[in-house]
Amino acid sequence: MPTYEPGLTMAEVMARHGLDRVVKLASNESPFPPLPEVEALVAAGLDGLNRYPDAFARGLREAIAERHGVDLGQVAVGNGSCELILLAAQAFLDPGTTVVHADPSFAMYPHLAAVAGAEAVAVPLAPDGGHDLAAMAAAVDERTRLVVVCNPNNPTGVGRPADAIEALLDAIPDDLAVLVDEAYHDFFDVPDAGRVLSMARVRPNLLVTRTFSKAFGLCGLRVGYGIGSPEWVAALDSVRQPFNSNALAQAAALESLRHRAPIAERVALTVAERGRVEAELARMGVAFTPSRANFVLVDAGPSAHEELLRRGVITRDGAALGVPGRIRVTIGLPEENAAFLAALAEVRVPSLANRA
Ligand code: PMP
Repeated sequence: MPTYEPGLTMAEVMARHGLDRVVKLASNESPFPPLPEVEALVAAGLDGLNRYPDAFARGLREAIAERHGVDLGQVAVGNGSCELILLAAQAFLDPGTTVVHADPSFAMYPHLAAVAGAEAVAVPLAPDGGHDLAAMAAAVDERTRLVVVCNPNNPTGVGRPADAIEALLDAIPDDLAVLVDEAYHDFFDVPDAGRVLSMARVRPNLLVTRTFSKAFGLCGLRVGYGIGSPEWVAALDSVRQPFNSNALAQAAALESLRHRAPIAERVALTVAERGRVEAELARMGVAFTPSRANFVLVDAGPSAHEELLRRGVITRDGAALGVPGRIRVTIGLPEENAAFLAALAEVRVPSLANRA
């Protein structure tokens, strides 16, 4: 079984390098705390923690259904979208079956086959860092029970247009379960980004997962959701534990949905900062993969991760993500991004020197 390796914590880095201040740009988190209204509600919710939460998360499911214009039965809620992805493995995979996903992609996908005793068919990304959807369609055979598409992809940040996802769906059997993981959807600033979810309203084999962990800044509470056919949602509900989403998470997510404007502002700032970071990397002559998510994969050389750590900037080492020699840097607050760029300018990594 592979073990998921989380990024280093701020405390670990401070202790290891004797630093009193670090910038954490390693786990694609939001740099903003939850909205004040959400924090107040979570604090108030502490009083009721002797009671089990709503097992169906009805209030939250209703709000999500309304937001996306789907029936209540088309909404699944999980302990982070990670849980829904793992539940899909439990629901659909058995020994002798396969799951098709991209590589390198989200580090949790290899677990799907592992937990179910199934076989993973990891399809290499196209040269631009996006999914090779034609190769994924070709990797489907009669043993395949699940196809996972990460859009935009982690760790490259490359997204595929809705038309391309539709072409994949058209190329494979329409009773084969497909999960499109849209954890970074909020930052995917292309006109048709929302159309995959529209397809999930009507295509019985498609589930789209989204999360409150990124734009909404609630990753510490764990809440994600899926939109798909009633059959897909019933499959996930049938294998989940009864109280899979906790009371505070339900309350916080529900409240967050009531405050669209401040969340949209935060997303806009992140997208603008992403552009600024990319422009600065280009100016510095540092290669990177143009991103549609809240992180950028930077071709900074094998020692950059460690050199940046020493300077108090935590990024994610590409070696752990299937992209050795690169770092994945999360877009943070303007001052955090500036600290990253300043530290990177000091890091004279060999690949940069060679390229110059
Ligand atoms: N999918 C992808 C591609 C991710 O990168 C992440 C977070 N790292 C998740 C899903 C999981 O998010 P969560 O469980 O917090 O909703």
